[in-house]
Amino acid sequence: MSPKKILSYVLLAGSVFFLFKLYDEGARRSVSSVAEAPPEQVEIAAPDFPVNYSLGAFDSRFGISQERFLQLVDEAIKVWEDAAARELFQLSQDGPMKINLVFDWRQERLLEAKAAKAKIDENGKSFDQLQSEYDERARSVDQVRLAYEETAQAYKSHLSDYNSRVARWNEGREHTEAEQRYLQNRKKELEDEQGALDKKVNELNSKGEELNELGEKMKAFSQKFNLDVENFNGTYVRSRDFEKGVYDGKAINIYEFEKEDDLKLTLVHEFGHALGLGHLENPKAIMNRKLAVQDVTNIRLTSDDLNLLKAKIK
Ligand SMILES: [Zn+2]
Repeated sequence: MSPKKILSYVLLAGSVFFLFKLYDEGARRSVSSVAEAPPEQVEIAAPDFPVNYSLGAFDSRFGISQERFLQLVDEAIKVWEDAAARELFQLSQDGPMKINLVFDWRQERLLEAKAAKAKIDENGKSFDQLQSEYDERARSVDQVRLAYEETAQAYKSHLSDYNSRVARWNEGREHTEAEQRYLQNRKKELEDEQGALDKKVNELNSKGEELNELGEKMKAFSQKFNLDVENFNGTYVRSRDFEKGVYDGKAINIYEFEKEDDLKLTLVHEFGHALGLGHLENPKAIMNRKLAVQDVTNIRLTSDDLNLLKAKIK
């Protein structure tokens, strides 16, 4: 199992449960803790095989068809049957063991969380756009400032030349018609330069103001965003104290899944309970209670799972 895949599962199972704040907080804060689930199924004696099962309650709000659901149930069963090399469960009309897809607050909250996460993602994108707009404008303001400083420097030197020639004129030197004409023209030119400089200063000021406004907007945006993230983490992350499925001795109830992959993993786990298997400490085991690091794209029994199965199914 590659580390990448492990990560991708954690994100999948709790993909709505990893959010980061942005901008002024700076720190990327990930929230991933999942509260301890209450004890679920204790070990029970293995039943007679194959166990006949059938579809019980089925809620279409999960967005999966009955046919597809039963297909995944079958795939989950195969994981155990392949390992045991025998038939363990048999789909049959009115089979006494029911597989129920139960829509309650758990799935409802997951759907809410997905919607909230989408909204936050969208806002994150908007913020990134604001950020690049800000950077672009800041660069443009810098260019205007540089141009202004260059022009101002040139103006200063032109002015100083002009003033020394005026001083010489006033001292009675260089009293020629050409010098007089030059000074008159030059004065006009310098006034034009001054006018252009004033224009640049105004431009610089208004661009600076715009930039500050954008900065304020971003600050407000990030505060709101961070609040949304905090609310999200508070609402959806800190109270995940339930299991996605339960085997109660007679039926498997599925309460929550995001994608078919994690539904299948939950099904394999619950069928393990239906085989009479208890929980394993090994975090990678299919019979681990938390199912936090399994590779959902490639569900495999660990040797611990297999030993548990061998001890139960003789
Ligand atoms: Zn369990």
